[in-house]
Amino acid sequence: MPSKKAKKKSFNYTPATNLAPITPVDTWQLVTQYYTSHNDPKIEADVKSAETAYRAFAKKWRTKSFTTDAEVLAQALKESEKIAGNPAFSRPLRYFSLVTALNTGDSEAEKQISLIQRRLRKASDETLFFSLELGKVPKATQKEFLKHEALTPYRYYLERLFAGAAHHLSEAEEKIISLKSRQAYGRWTDMTDKIVSQRHITWKGKSIAIPEAIETVNILPFTEKPKLWGLITKELGQISEVAEHEFNAIITDVRTEDELRGYKKPYSATVQSYQDTEDAVERLVAAVSDTGFKLSHKFYKLKAKIHGVEQLEYSQRNESAGAGITISYDEAVEICRDVFYRVHTDYGAFFDHMLEGGQIDVWPRGGKTGGAFMSAQTGHPINVMLNHVTNFGSLETLAHEMGHAIHAMRSATQSPFYDGHSIVTAETASTLFENLVFDAVYAQVSEADKAILLHDRILRDISTIQRQIAFFNAELEIHNTIHQAGGMSGEELRACMEKHLKSYLGPAVNVRKEDGYSYVYIGHLRYGFYVYSYAYGLMMSSIMAKKYKEDNAYVTKIDEFLRLGESMLIKDIYKRIGIDTTKPDTFTVALERLAEDIKAYETLLKKQSK
Ligand SMILES: [Zn+2]
Repeated sequence: MPSKKAKKKSFNYTPATNLAPITPVDTWQLVTQYYTSHNDPKIEADVKSAETAYRAFAKKWRTKSFTTDAEVLAQALKESEKIAGNPAFSRPLRYFSLVTALNTGDSEAEKQISLIQRRLRKASDETLFFSLELGKVPKATQKEFLKHEALTPYRYYLERLFAGAAHHLSEAEEKIISLKSRQAYGRWTDMTDKIVSQRHITWKGKSIAIPEAIETVNILPFTEKPKLWGLITKELGQISEVAEHEFNAIITDVRTEDELRGYKKPYSATVQSYQDTEDAVERLVAAVSDTGFKLSHKFYKLKAKIHGVEQLEYSQRNESAGAGITISYDEAVEICRDVFYRVHTDYGAFFDHMLEGGQIDVWPRGGKTGGAFMSAQTGHPINVMLNHVTNFGSLETLAHEMGHAIHAMRSATQSPFYDGHSIVTAETASTLFENLVFDAVYAQVSEADKAILLHDRILRDISTIQRQIAFFNAELEIHNTIHQAGGMSGEELRACMEKHLKSYLGPAVNVRKEDGYSYVYIGHLRYGFYVYSYAYGLMMSSIMAKKYKEDNAYVTKIDEFLRLGESMLIKDIYKRIGIDTTKPDTFTVALERLAEDIKAYETLLKKQSK
């Protein structure tokens, strides 16, 4: 399959399946799939048709009583579903946002985005009354509606709407909160972010901004890392003087709003928006903070030993075990095709379709956004953006984003109300495919490369699971302390962070006082407990990958999971595929793969030292 420009392979992957050659197109074909140009008259026509549809819906239903009769409500929901599922209405914004991903300097596209957004928001705001009115339905009627046959397809939609509405305030209050949120939250976090990104450090005669300096720590030689990190934490310590006020302000703001809305726990609102349940999150956090932290302590002890030190410095915790294998894009495609086809013919065929249809934009180039993402919307081609380089990480990224894409493809069979995903299940799908691809490569590399791959995967898993749950614990302690004591000083915030970094890194990592200033630059700590979602996703995919390995027939469950979209609470989605998140030990079981990886790594090291 690889084309003529294929680079020399560092290892020869042998596919298990015999696949027909294909001709991939490695750039997005926006012109054939969306609009011919920024000036295509179809753009204006589509925006107009969306405006007309919203206004027609508003006009029709504003004066009708749709909250008393289930049949009438079903009719209204059907019409609302139709609007949500019409690709013409979302095509203009989708087109321009994909354009700007490829060329961040396209100011014409940026202008169009804000103009169209303003028009569509204005039009869709006219339909806001619909969900607001529906949210006011008395409890007894809600119960009736949820049981009514005509509303069966909309049951979960209504359940979510009613659950959310229980925390709504009056229209006037909602308006005040929304108008004040920019200065109560956004302006504060922007401030710290801006200061961090504008402060410079002199390193080897060059002045570099803090974010770049943090990136540089990762690529520096092992022994040089602590020095640069020391310079960074010195700056962060100074910024802490203002970050202290930022943290106290935003957390008090969130807490005040939670109390007004009647959310009981600091993470209640987030858990509800992720379609999750509080007890599952609590079980997850408990399992990771106990069994999980013991595992990460064990691994860092092992890691200190392989680096020949008594203790690792905090800045050395992510040091890779070696250069590892290089993989060309053509080979990455070959591996993914092989794995996807083996798991399910449809997944392989869908990948081919994405490749041949120019739905994956592969190469880094000037002006293109960094990183990688998958983007899917009802009725549109699915798009994946990469910035591929020839290493193993890029292969994993391709597998990860394709996992998201396959999830979106399968969930497209749902109603437009349900074809999206909770961030938790989305990360389950992506890391599952990442896992499967890892296993396929791992099986074929040399023992020395196996050790590197395994070591680096363990490090990444710990960063996703243990580190994020340590952040969760820190965030919770900060929330509770600020609430009970009325505030926290910069020194208290630093000490809290230091304590929680120590909690997951263990005695083999020297967490210094200054490392606690990390709280200043970690943006995710400001996302209201968002940090747990990736840990949850990865832990569930570990269980699924294990079940699949034990018995390939489990693919029917994997497929069911992928098709469910967001048509029910995530605990019910997992239950369907044999994972009971209400059982206390499910999350401990989810850590077993990590325990096995660490054990396997230990064995590999022993073999190597012989
Ligand atoms: Zn992802």
